[in-house]
Formats: sequence, structure tokens, C-alpha cells
Amino acid sequence: MKISFFGAAGCVTGSNYLIETENYRFLVDCGMFQGNKTLKENNYKNFAYNPADIDFVILTHAHIDHTGLLPKLVKHGFTGPVYATKPTVDMLRSLLPDSARIQEVEVLQKNRRNERKGLPPLEPIYDELDADKAISLLKGVDRYKDFSPADGCNVVFHNAGHILGSAVVEIKVTDKNETRKIVFTGDLGEDDHPIVNDPDRIKSTDFLLVESTYGNRIRKEVTKEERLSAIANVFKEAEKRGGKILIPAFSLERTQDLLHDILILKERKEISGIKVIVDSPLSKELTKVFVKYPELYDEDATNLRNKMGGLFDHPDFRFTESVEESKALNPLNNIVIMSASGMCDAGRIKHHLKHNLWNPANTVIFVGYQAEGTLGRLILDGAKKVRIHGEEVTVGAVIDQIPGYSGHADQNGLLKWMKTIENNPRQIFVVHGEPESASEFASLIKNDFGFNVTVPAMNDSFDLLGYDESTKPVAKASEIVERPALKPLKRDSHNLYADFMLRLADYMRFEKDEDNRRQKLEELLTKLK
Ligand SMILES: [Zn+2]
Ligand SMILES: [Zn+2]
Repeated sequence: MKISFFGAAGCVTGSNYLIETENYRFLVDCGMFQGNKTLKENNYKNFAYNPADIDFVILTHAHIDHTGLLPKLVKHGFTGPVYATKPTVDMLRSLLPDSARIQEVEVLQKNRRNERKGLPPLEPIYDELDADKAISLLKGVDRYKDFSPADGCNVVFHNAGHILGSAVVEIKVTDKNETRKIVFTGDLGEDDHPIVNDPDRIKSTDFLLVESTYGNRIRKEVTKEERLSAIANVFKEAEKRGGKILIPAFSLERTQDLLHDILILKERKEISGIKVIVDSPLSKELTKVFVKYPELYDEDATNLRNKMGGLFDHPDFRFTESVEESKALNPLNNIVIMSASGMCDAGRIKHHLKHNLWNPANTVIFVGYQAEGTLGRLILDGAKKVRIHGEEVTVGAVIDQIPGYSGHADQNGLLKWMKTIENNPRQIFVVHGEPESASEFASLIKNDFGFNVTVPAMNDSFDLLGYDESTKPVAKASEIVERPALKPLKRDSHNLYADFMLRLADYMRFEKDEDNRRQKLEELLTKLK
């Protein structure tokens, strides 16, 4: 029995774990690498295994960094079933084709550049047809109901409290007459998150793969009431200025969380009739999945739904579909536009920012983490000017941030979750974190609980039958697959290039002395030779 780490090891994205026994082999998650271009290049590389040899796949939740390479797996020969919770399956019906369209557009743009450079054209990682084939393999399973995808393999989905349908996956694997329990946290949510229930706890396991996105961060605790009054205040201030409120928000979970909170404020009559427009066809589709599974709401959301007759169909809420509807929002004021992507690096939010960022009457509210190098991060960090679709845009709008919406437990939350483990697991694997975050969290686990803990590197494999509780061995990589190792870079050359171009444009604008300008540019050119 062997586990190998082919993603979310040494980085946050690309979750992909392979478990092999004598009789069957399966994957847990098949995620896409996201972030800077260096990380994304991994999506184009071959899988470290033959997809045709995989018997089945189990998914923790719908996020693309856990599921986005499924169509590629299918394209390269995988034909088995893919098990996930029912909401996850429904969400993937819109997420995977959407991801395919993004690939196709990206590759089209790259190929136009390659053509001009005389380079051969690239093929998209996968297309909509591959996404459709992947969707046809999905099998929805109820939470808490165990199922057996192969003889000697037993799986149960518990609640991970991260997004609707997210699961902590418990798998019992039997190989050579020995059984081992392996628990995958997937992404772990925080207690008291809007809509979803608190994550389920586990009491014992042989092996645990625990996420560590915020393994080295302790967030200031923000209560529900603090979060709500922050929204009410920002809305009131923005209304006084008479402009628009733009909220970049992920289509999945964050958009619905915000609507849920705004609905509470509407119910309490704390904010006036300001209209909220969700301008993202994907958000609209995903919201339908939330409507379909009210039995998965927590108590607060259930009560609110009962009182208001639904969480997402208030008369002040509107979901747009077409590009025309989106463009028609340009001249309107005193509205909230919620749109994707959450970090402003793609999607309709970029158009809205391009048209509205200059205007001091407008407000941009950030409700989620903005990764280094993204447009959202630049704006949040106080950039005076940004480039959007090749155009320079001045930042005149009020920029604000509302904390309290993280989908991930922070260091305290993760440790609190681990506290209920009563046995001494054979090994804890810390995954899904930047290297500093994973290693800091690993040493905390060692100190606080005394568990065996390791931070696996990309391509590491571990023999799961070789562990003996009495000897408490330290994990060792047993086999390294030939595959270039990842270099997690905070800011890659493309980020630096964008900064450089902005700085250069500034320099040309403000340095009026022609001699100085020529001298500086000549210096730079000599350096580039
Ligand atoms: Zn996630
Ligand atoms: Zn994740």
C-alpha cells in the first residue's frame, strides 16, 4: 500500500494523491495548479502515472484546485468512476466546462503570440468535450453513507465546512490482508462560517493528510455581528457618495455567503433598498446548487431561509446572464455589483473595474484573500494606477476590505480541529500549504500532540504498510518519480514584468528632462543586452 503526492505538496494548489494496492489504484482529487505562470506550467506536463491504470477517483470538493485536471485525466485515458458528494457533482457540471473554456481562450491568445514568433501552436490542456466526458463519469454519494468503490476499499464523506458539499474523506484501504484508515481533510473550513455547518471532527485514524493553507497564520477573530456591521457601514458610506459598490467575489461560496449576510441586513432593515446584482453566469449556476440542497444549511441559514422564503431570491437581488445585461450596468449608480473572479485577474469584474475604478464616488470592497501578483492585490496594496486589458487606469475609488470571510481554518482552527484525535496516528502528512506554512504547522503538531508528522515534497511516495505504531518511524520518501520539481515562487518573472512596465510608464510621465530620460533608458537597454 503506497501513497504518492503529485500536487498540493510544497504549494497550495494542484491537489492530487495516488494510492496503490496490489489490486487497485485510485486518486484522491485531481486538481489544477493555480497562481503564477511557473505553477500553472505544471498543468501542461504529463501525469506522473498512466491515467488508464487508475481504477477510480474520489473528490474532496468542487474547487478547481482539487478537480480541475479531471478532464485532462479523461483525455489521457481514464474511464473509471469519479465519486463525490451530490452538491460537488452538481457544481462540477458548470465548473468543469467553464474551466475548459478558460483553457481554450488562454491557449488561443498564447497561439496568436506564438504564431507571430514563429513558434508551434499549443494544444489546450483540455476542451469542453473532455469536460463533458469527465462529467459523465461523476457519481454523487450521500454524506455519511459508506460505499465501496473496490473490494477492500471503504469510503465515507464527512462535512468539511469549507464550501457547500465539501468533504473530509475517510478511506479504509485493505491490502495484503492489512487495513489502514486514511483521512483526507480536503480544505477545512472554520466554525461559524455562513450557510455551511461546522466541520465534522474525527476521533482516530492511521494516516491523516491535513491542509495547511493558513498553517502559519492566526487571524483576528471576527464574529458574525462584527462582519455584518462592517458590511452595513461600508454600504451606508458608499450610498452617501452615490456611486457603485464593486465586490470581487469567487463564484463558489463567497458570493452566496455575501448574499446570505446582505439578506440578514435586509431582514433587519439595516440597509436600504440598494439593489445587489450578481454579474456572473457561473455564480448564477452555482447559486442554483445552493438552492437545491437546503438540508445542508446550518441552523442560522435554515431559520433565515424559512423567514425570508429563500436565501437568494429577495426582490433586491438580481442575477445577470448576457454580456449586454452586464454592459447595461455601466451607467447605473447606487447598486452593488458582485462579480468574479475573486482576485480580479479574469472575468467580468475586470471590465467593471476598468470603467469604475477612477471615480471617487465608487467603492471597491475586498472580501477574500488576494494573492501576490494579482490585480486585486495591487489595488488593495494601494496602487495609484493599474493596467487592465492593456489600458492604464487611475485608482480613485474608495478601497475597503471586510474581514471574516475566509473559507479556510487558520492555525488555531486547524489545531482545534486536530484536538479530537484520540489515538496516535502512524503518520500525519501536512499538505496544501506554502512551504513556510506547512513546516510551521508540522512543528506545532509535533509539539502540541507528539504525533509523527512530515511535510511531503512533490513526487514523494510512502509505504503505508511499513509503519509500526510501537516503533514510531519517521516517514521516508521511498520512491521518486521522474518529474521536474516545483519551484514555488512568490513573484515570478511575469509579475515583475508587469511591475516594471508600470514603473517605466510612470518614469516617462514624470521625468520631464529629455537628457535624463534618454540616459536612464540607455542604461536599462545596456543591462538587457
Ligand atoms: Zn477549496
Ligand atoms: Zn484547496
